[in-house]
Amino acid sequence: MLLFLSLNALAATPVFESYLDADVLESIQHKHPIGVVGWTSTGQAIIHSDEATTKRLLDAGIPLGSVQKEASPPMDISADLFHDELRKLADNHASAELLTLGHSLEGQPLLGLRVGESNPIWRIIGGHHGDETIAPRIVIEVARKLLEKSPPFDEVPPRGSIIFVPLLNPDGLNDGSRYNRRGVDLNRNYSWHWEAKEFRPGAHAFSEPETQAIQSLSTLGVSHTELNVHSGSTNLAWVWNWTTTPSPHETVLQEIAEAYASRCAQEGFWLTNGAEWYVTYGDATDWAYGTRGNLSFTLEVSDEKSPPQAEEASIIEDHLDAIANWMELEPNLQLQLVDASTQRPIQGSLRIPQQEATISNDVATGDFFHLLSPGTWEIAVESPGYASQEILIEIPAEGTLSDTLSLEPDNLLNTELPSRLFSWSDQPQEWVLPESLQDIQWLQLTKVGSPEQMLSVEDGLVEIKSNLLSPGPWSVHTSKGSAPHSVFIGERNQELFLLDYHLDGPRLYLEFAEISTTAQVFAIWGTDRSWTPVPVTNWISTELSLDISNVPAAHRVDLLIFDQNRVVSLLDLFGDPILDVQPPDDTGFYEDLPEDSPGNDWNGDTELTASSCTCSQSEMDSQHAWLLSFGLLVLHRRKRKDTEDIIAQKNS
Ligand SMILES: [Zn+2]
Repeated sequence: MLLFLSLNALAATPVFESYLDADVLESIQHKHPIGVVGWTSTGQAIIHSDEATTKRLLDAGIPLGSVQKEASPPMDISADLFHDELRKLADNHASAELLTLGHSLEGQPLLGLRVGESNPIWRIIGGHHGDETIAPRIVIEVARKLLEKSPPFDEVPPRGSIIFVPLLNPDGLNDGSRYNRRGVDLNRNYSWHWEAKEFRPGAHAFSEPETQAIQSLSTLGVSHTELNVHSGSTNLAWVWNWTTTPSPHETVLQEIAEAYASRCAQEGFWLTNGAEWYVTYGDATDWAYGTRGNLSFTLEVSDEKSPPQAEEASIIEDHLDAIANWMELEPNLQLQLVDASTQRPIQGSLRIPQQEATISNDVATGDFFHLLSPGTWEIAVESPGYASQEILIEIPAEGTLSDTLSLEPDNLLNTELPSRLFSWSDQPQEWVLPESLQDIQWLQLTKVGSPEQMLSVEDGLVEIKSNLLSPGPWSVHTSKGSAPHSVFIGERNQELFLLDYHLDGPRLYLEFAEISTTAQVFAIWGTDRSWTPVPVTNWISTELSLDISNVPAAHRVDLLIFDQNRVVSLLDLFGDPILDVQPPDDTGFYEDLPEDSPGNDWNGDTELTASSCTCSQSEMDSQHAWLLSFGLLVLHRRKRKDTEDIIAQKNS
């Protein structure tokens, strides 16, 4: 842990690159802090180590070959160049949506491009390593050709959508370094079998904003297959990377890889299982496959990490047919998971028994999209708060198996354990459990794609460290049952926070400092805690107007607002609402607030004015519910907490 006390100092520490024969590597690996970052065509490992280790190895007579500093001299390309190209593509094509997934340590945007809106999703991610400049280039060129419908992309996408993230590590690219600004290897920072013994894996899994961006990207939608583009070799590697034990998808992964190779024109292009090439922990593809069932590949497109620009076009050309063919890879399994009593979609997972990896569904629609080899599969279906089922499914040789699966509720705890919001904070926050759960000893928090958290309970008290949890709703498991989506973690990105809201009949107005046109809102209520999409009826840059006529005012209702890659919450909309307020520390937002005054709209003291309900005759029942809730709401709004109370609540 000492190493990470000075993480920022690490950035300035030089990294040395050298070469080792495989047998020498085996004898020193994991005894010294070194990272294997690739292999030469002559079978030597390319290793990275810090100055002290490099000196120690040399002093011990380890033959390191030529030793050189890792960071390349400044190149004639910069992250801005790629960002400008991506923005231009989004500007010029109505079918493309620019995504801001987060920001790098230096504050550069982490940009993506989405083509299409629905599931399933094909993902192409490049630039985990800043010194591999051909990776962002090829991702952008594929996006461009797809949008321009030029061959071989004139027929894709067949359905669903494609997400491109060309440059995940813009700081590293500008530094000419593999690592991010703080010296972390982003492709060792994911949570699936994350290991501190890796070279520069970060303080803990998902410690870096760049990997957090990919983690958040996976919250909405189902990506069934993914290419992670790198350079330094010319091959396609399938999961796993952390173990040579084959995954249950070994056959189908190998078939996809063979189809890729058959259409790839690159000379000497080869295929491998990732771990058989070399073992890595905390890798992006293992995480995508292990936590979501995403059939994920590492694609190495060039022996040279940063080939001369004159050679880029032919390298890209060699891969276009193969990538276009991969984009036609359709899932052959589509299942929807629903609550047997309410028939509403629920979040859950499919698992091949005895296997650790799970296949996750879309939390809002309950849909799984997946590709399995044809034949009979025994599958376990699991969802927190529901009785698990084991089922046999028959995957056809051609076509898609579509079905709906119902799970029976089993010890759902939502009534006992009402939802709770913890703002994003560096400080531990205390959670007092309700009376009925005072005697439990432990509590587990889970969220798809995030490392699970096992917490001890003492005298009904739990300590929550929200900075270790990704934003959005987590499911709670206890010895007495489960409460899906009941612990909400506030947004860590300080640009998005909820300033205020107004209810006006079936219209809900949410105010932000800024909100994008593509924001999505979900309401969560009832025992099943399903996510119900709430239609956005109007947008201005700081406000969303929502039609909440389908949201039952008689329930405790929580709202989730997704904007680009960020999520904020508003809990208990009709009761005693709690906003996820996340004012930026550095702008003195608190200090700038006027004292509590009648005109201060922010603290919610403004009185609501009634407006006539425009509900149709057939919606009479919900209209009555509305009138009732509206009356209650006015009372609540009048006794809304003043600014100081809200801040105290946020900080508690
Ligand atoms: Zn790489």
